[in-house]
Amino acid sequence: MAEMQNRNTRRDLLKNIFRGAGLLGLGGAVWGTAAEKLKASDIVLRPPGAILEEHFTKACIRCGICVEACPYNTLKLATVDGKAAVGTPYFEPRDIPCYMCTDVPCVPVCPSGALDPTELAGDDSGAVSSALDINKARMGVAVVDQEACVAYWGIQCDACYRACPLMGKAITLEFKRNERTGKHAFLEPVVHRDICTGCGLCQHACVTEKAAIFVLPRTIATGKVGEHYIKGWDKADEERLKNLKEEKAKKSSPEDVLNDWENLFDDD
Ligand code: SF4
Ligand code: SF4
Ligand code: SF4
Repeated sequence: MAEMQNRNTRRDLLKNIFRGAGLLGLGGAVWGTAAEKLKASDIVLRPPGAILEEHFTKACIRCGICVEACPYNTLKLATVDGKAAVGTPYFEPRDIPCYMCTDVPCVPVCPSGALDPTELAGDDSGAVSSALDINKARMGVAVVDQEACVAYWGIQCDACYRACPLMGKAITLEFKRNERTGKHAFLEPVVHRDICTGCGLCQHACVTEKAAIFVLPRTIATGKVGEHYIKGWDKADEERLKNLKEEKAKKSSPEDVLNDWENLFDDD
């Protein structure tokens, strides 16, 4: 019975994620297969500066020093409940979000490199000595479930927008005319993924019974366009595609092919 309940909870969680990411539009079979492949531990949120999840679980020595350093008790160590690899730090923003400490005490104390200060280096040199900038953290990205968000119904709500430490940048409110009533407006929250840190303050503040905005790991929440698509209106993007084509042409020159073969049989 308990096992059955656990399975249902996990399935509900995944369903919520897919709905939020707009993936429920996929056919039932596709959604079913994708959900089966995801484990609860795939959607875990790590502290600021965490390296890629596949490397993180190997690098983290489960010392808990980052957890102790967090003044808000945001971070906790995973137990055997299956939410994350046992002993590794994670957080659940609906309970306690990351409060984006300006001095980021959790990161520099990590002895193993699982939390990498260079990810948050204040200038763009990547030097560990430069001051850390918490706004560079990419713990995840917030996703809005437009079916559950009351602002998309036309009800006035800007709780997530106001809670965001990067208000007006990571979340903006988009004005739309309400065609149904003809005299009201929608003010819909829109997340800008290049700026969102994944702190989860929006998820914590959301007024709905189950948050209509929630943070997902970037690997799950984001897509990839593919390098051959081009923004025709953007000169820099045209230049990027031109350089890409030139590079590819160079790589497939007969000299390169010959070089590759020589390297293959090189004894040194
Ligand atoms: S930045 Fe502050 S609140 Fe966020 S995890 Fe680190 S110590 Fe905790
Ligand atoms: S997670 Fe939410 S509150 Fe935090 S930066 Fe992103 S949009 Fe703003
Ligand atoms: S707080 Fe929740 S319901 Fe309100 S606008 Fe934000 S996502 Fe929508």
